[in-house]
Amino acid sequence: MVDYRQNKLNKKWIIVSPKRAKRPGENKKEAKPVCPFCYGHESMTPPEVYRIGDGNPGESGWKVRVVPNKYKITDIHEVIIHHPNHDFDFEDLPEEHANLVFGVYKNRFNFHKDEGQVVIFNNCGKEAAESLEHNHTQLAVVPANIQLDTPVIGEINLAYEDDQLLISCPRDSEWPYEVWFIPKRRDLCFGDINSDEIMSFSRNLKKVINIIKKEVGKFSYNFYIYPSQDWYLRLIPRITNRAGFELSTGIMVNTKDSQEVVNLLKQNL
Ligand SMILES: [Zn+2]
Repeated sequence: MVDYRQNKLNKKWIIVSPKRAKRPGENKKEAKPVCPFCYGHESMTPPEVYRIGDGNPGESGWKVRVVPNKYKITDIHEVIIHHPNHDFDFEDLPEEHANLVFGVYKNRFNFHKDEGQVVIFNNCGKEAAESLEHNHTQLAVVPANIQLDTPVIGEINLAYEDDQLLISCPRDSEWPYEVWFIPKRRDLCFGDINSDEIMSFSRNLKKVINIIKKEVGKFSYNFYIYPSQDWYLRLIPRITNRAGFELSTGIMVNTKDSQEVVNLLKQNL
């Protein structure tokens, strides 16, 4: 079992998860291990719980694959392996395949939604705390009684819209090149996403990452999907890190005015 501890004064929670320390990359001196997420290495992961594509669980033939996380943070913690190709990050996926990945997010969200708060997040690149290079997204279920600190949608600073979504770079963005993807159908949970929204979200997320990449070069990023009602997806490039000032004051220093990011996206989307 995972140990949840709360600070009685500010009510903030932490999770004590010693198993997590054993994950690949935590000990930097380790030799590069064989990738357990690559095609043909299916037997290296814990038993598969879901797949898109052909073949039997534990065998090749898959397009997207879901397995329990070996180094879990919470009691229910899954890994969604996007693609058999080791070198594809989310923005490199063919559009149709990115739609499949989003469809799997929806499937797993709805599968677990009655068990707690379903958090879906992606760590891509070293500065984003990626543990395995082979791109994957994680899903962790946090018990309903644990209060999350996830921000809600505030004032929208519009960079782009289509029939399905709004793309916003909030004026009070905490990180350089931070981008929010907000469905036009508001007040729903991610599990309610429909196929038109899936296509728009996956296409635009890919596009935005590639636009930023063209501007700053290859960069690490996190994105996450808000776990409860009035959902959104937030992309956080990890071009800068939290330093002493941020840790001591709780005030984030953003080195990029979000208005410049709006202009960049307006010109390129
Ligand atoms: Zn791999």
